[in-house]
Amino acid sequence: MRLLSLTIDGFKSFAHKTTIKFEEGMTGIVGPNGSGKSNIIEAIRWVMGEQSARQLRGDKMADVIFNGSASRVPLNRALVSITFDNSDHYLASEFTELTVSRKLFRNGESEYLINGQKVRLKDIVDLFIDSGLGRESFSIISQGRIAAIFNGKPEDRRGIIEAVAGVAKYQKNKATAQRR
Ligand code: ATP
Ligand code: MG
Repeated sequence: MRLLSLTIDGFKSFAHKTTIKFEEGMTGIVGPNGSGKSNIIEAIRWVMGEQSARQLRGDKMADVIFNGSASRVPLNRALVSITFDNSDHYLASEFTELTVSRKLFRNGESEYLINGQKVRLKDIVDLFIDSGLGRESFSIISQGRIAAIFNGKPEDRRGIIEAVAGVAKYQKNKATAQRR
């Protein structure tokens, strides 16, 4: 499994549709302060199902939609797509290439797609849950998070170890079963 590309359109500072292709090996993103590096990482987080506006440095989810600049009017919707090479079926899907998309309109309407088909948020979460990616994972570590891990309560740290060990799925299934 490998990240192939990311398309950002109307998300945060990306008013223009922008596609980033990831070659094999390591990718570094460089640029002046405020040029949108962190916004790229947040776009990845968002498309993989992030539900917390605060994790994306906003107050409400609509804050991710391009809000205008000196030269451009605000946009009405944000769209992010991420494409993975899944030929080893590392992600729980039959597809050898997977494009996950998320769309949000200012009126709150939102949509998730896998390879162009509308899906539920749960399908996105399930796709990533055992992969070490996804919204609760530690494949993306933001600055504040490191301190939170060190200063966290033992229960919280146990949660982190469980997530890393890949037992989160079983905890989630158990909770669902107990609710029935
Ligand atoms: P640094 O090097 O300081 O970490 P950075 O490259 O990570 O900078 P970001 O934090 O990704 O920069 O980008 C910040 C910019 O994104 C700010 O100029 C901010 O105004 C802009 N921005 C954030 N949300 C929106 C939005 N919804 N619409 C338009 N611009 C936005
Ligand atoms: Mg930054």
